[in-house]
Amino acid sequence: MSKVAVLGGGLSGRLMAFQLAEQGISVELFEKGERNGAQAAAYVAAAMLAPSAEAVEATPEVIRLGKQSIALWRAIVCRLNTPVMMQENGSLIVWHTQDKPLSAEFARHLKRGGVAEHETIRWNADEIAANEPQLAGRFSDGLYLPTEGQLDGRQVLNALADA
Ligand SMILES: Cc1cc2nc3c(=O)[nH]c(=O)nc-3n(C[C@H](O)[C@H](O)[C@H](O)COP(=O)(O)OP(=O)(O)OC[C@H]3O[C@@H](n4cnc5c(N)ncnc54)[C@H](O)[C@@H]3O)c2cc1C
Repeated sequence: MSKVAVLGGGLSGRLMAFQLAEQGISVELFEKGERNGAQAAAYVAAAMLAPSAEAVEATPEVIRLGKQSIALWRAIVCRLNTPVMMQENGSLIVWHTQDKPLSAEFARHLKRGGVAEHETIRWNADEIAANEPQLAGRFSDGLYLPTEGQLDGRQVLNALADA
């Protein structure tokens, strides 16, 4: 029977160890920091599952893989015994009036990244206020990406440690 050592218990190491263990492989995970993952990037990350929102920098391939990962995360969260907050309510990118040209530029990045038109919904100031009252009166233009989501990174680290 193989035995695997995983070095580094950030999000990647914990996920790797968890999935190997699920396959019946004996795993030992070595992490120099705390069990709660305080030294891992995921401890401070927003943990947005928002590949299209990264279109300015991400390649089409990274965006495609990121979209696939949302479904993978949904399945992983279901297999964890410790609760993890995961939401798929979309993400919203907003622009101040003076930044309007950036909004058109971002739309071009989305197109280049292979994000389909039906995956983006343009919101004006009234629609932003209706959907996100805390942003009312502050932004004139927004792009809602309904298929994106978010995790609670600290809960994921903790749940993977439990698992
Ligand atoms: C502020 C911020 C916001 C982010 N927001 C997002 C976001 O919204 N969405 C998103 O998808 N990604 C986001 N990221 C990126 C994401 O969090 C990271 O890509 C991911 O968590 C990296 O995980 P990792 O396990 O590869 O690396 P790390 O988290 O760096 O884990 C490496 C682990 O190895 C341990 N280690 C190092 N050396 C040793 C050793 N010699 N022996 C034992 N252990 C060792 C460290 O203590 C650490 O726990 C964000 C990152 C940051 C910093």
